[in-house]
Amino acid sequence: MDLAANLQAVQSRIAAACARAGRDPAAVTLVAVTKGQPPRVVRAAADLGLTLFGENKVQEARAKISLCPGRLHWHLIGHLQSNKARDAVHFFELIHSVDSLALAAEIQKQADKVAKNVPVLLEVNIAGEASKFGHPPEKLLADLPALNALRRLEIHGLMTMAPWSPEPEKARPVFRRLRELKGACEQILGAPLAHLSMGMTGDFEVAVEEGATLVRIGTALFGERPAVKG
Ligand SMILES: *Cc1c(COP(=O)(O)O)cnc(C)c1O
Repeated sequence: MDLAANLQAVQSRIAAACARAGRDPAAVTLVAVTKGQPPRVVRAAADLGLTLFGENKVQEARAKISLCPGRLHWHLIGHLQSNKARDAVHFFELIHSVDSLALAAEIQKQADKVAKNVPVLLEVNIAGEASKFGHPPEKLLADLPALNALRRLEIHGLMTMAPWSPEPEKARPVFRRLRELKGACEQILGAPLAHLSMGMTGDFEVAVEEGATLVRIGTALFGERPAVKG
């Protein structure tokens, strides 16, 4: 695995997608997804200038973060169980995966205990896949006032995962729909939302064309993940 070459390739693909869409590449932030990767891989990435990392499990991240340089930034991108909300509030600068009002309420409760505001994204299950987490779009709009009333949560935008497909174009309607939903949420909130977290190794260029501000990329940077249990 040549991490430097992979990083350069990913960055130039993001830049090319931005050029096609008339977007400023500075408006797209790469979240390097290090789930399943050991701390030495994070350190190698940090040596190349990467500072923002995404993890999908609280326990794995907690152990890893303590072994990595303290100046790095960590986002939670995977499903959060309520009983891990306390740790999530402590370890992550942004939680991409707030997928229900119940979870949001638990994050509020834990954040209140430590008097901390928690930046979050609301995960949406656009395609309605049973295997994925996230608010159904209609439910998101219905629950938004209640979500917004949780004072410790700072809602910064939306996140989605497109259904897996070998054809990136299949993801386009999903990403477009997330962008439209962001607009609908902004109307309800009466305030702009900064972020659309969408796009992974298989579909990030389409996501950037459709307005992604955070792309979550693992495999294209680090290669196939070592097999993980659970
Ligand atoms: C693993 C994961 C990614 C990155 O996936 P790759 O295909 O390896 O780039 C992005 N988002 C979430 C939520 C993930 O769990």
